[in-house]
Parts: sequence; structure tokens; C-alpha cells
Amino acid sequence: MLSMRYFGDPILRKRAKIVEKVDEETRQIVADMAEIMKQYRGIGLAAPQVGLSIRLFISRIEKESEETKISADNLLVFINPRLSEASAKEDVMKEGCLSLPGIHEEVWRPEEITVEALDIHGKLFKKRFSGLQARCIMHENDHINGTLFIDRITMRARTHIEHLLRAIKKKYK
Ligand SMILES: [Zn+2]
Repeated sequence: MLSMRYFGDPILRKRAKIVEKVDEETRQIVADMAEIMKQYRGIGLAAPQVGLSIRLFISRIEKESEETKISADNLLVFINPRLSEASAKEDVMKEGCLSLPGIHEEVWRPEEITVEALDIHGKLFKKRFSGLQARCIMHENDHINGTLFIDRITMRARTHIEHLLRAIKKKYK
């Protein structure tokens, strides 16, 4: 059974393993993750966040204007993703994370990114993303490499939230 993992859980700091085969089991994992993401009202969810150290994440932002809509149709699945061609231009936005409840901090990231990944059928696709969708993909991709958005904030901001991080660790231990 998949369950939400919180800051302090070592799985969030591991480099996740390649998905060797996209099969029915993978599709069941994706379906379960989509359910959990909906339940927690997230816009993205990576497998390590639900206890699976594999290179897979999902996102449900179709277009920025449609971000409040949740349907199976706009669920994007990324398996064994490779990110490339990050734009030189970056922008800043406050990010949050289901594994770090209550924390929202500004993170600078490239505005655009190209992703090559396998889809839910195991088929390779390549697509360029921008805006909130690109941000979400980079945030989730960080998860499968053991990186959290709080690793990308200023020292000053990190110091400021240190007590909140300690509280999360304690609460979910
Ligand atoms: Zn996250």
C-alpha cells in the first residue's frame, strides 16, 4: 500500500532506480498515485513521495489556465525522464511540496525545459514545457534524484524555516 512520505524519511533523499519495464504493475502504481495526488490536492507527485524509489512521476497541469481542473485526461506520466535544454531565462515562484506540508518558499528555475520520457504505455516521447508545467516537472524530477525544493532556496530562507522542518520530522517520525 502506498503512503505519503514526509521530510525526514530517507527515501526522499535516495537516487531512485530506473523502471525496467512498463507493465500492468506500473499502470496500477500510476493509478494509485493519481488517486493520492487528487486526495492531497497536489499538482505533481513523484514515486519516492509514496514510498517507491523508482524514476516515475506524474503531473496534472494541462495548461496554466486549467490548473484547477482535475481529470484523468490531463494526467501526465513521466517514466525514466531525461531533462535537457533548460532555458537560460529563469523565473521565481513560491513552491510547496506534499512531503513538506506548510512550507512555501521562492525557488528560481529555468522557464522552459525539454523532457524525454516513457509514457504509461512504455512509449518514448519528447516534449518542451514552459511556465508552471515546466516548474512542476523540474520539482518532481528533483524528487527522483533525492533533491527537495528546500535545497534550492536561499540560506536565509532555509534558516527561517529550520524550526518548521524539525517539526515535520518530529510529527511524521
Ligand atoms: Zn515535492
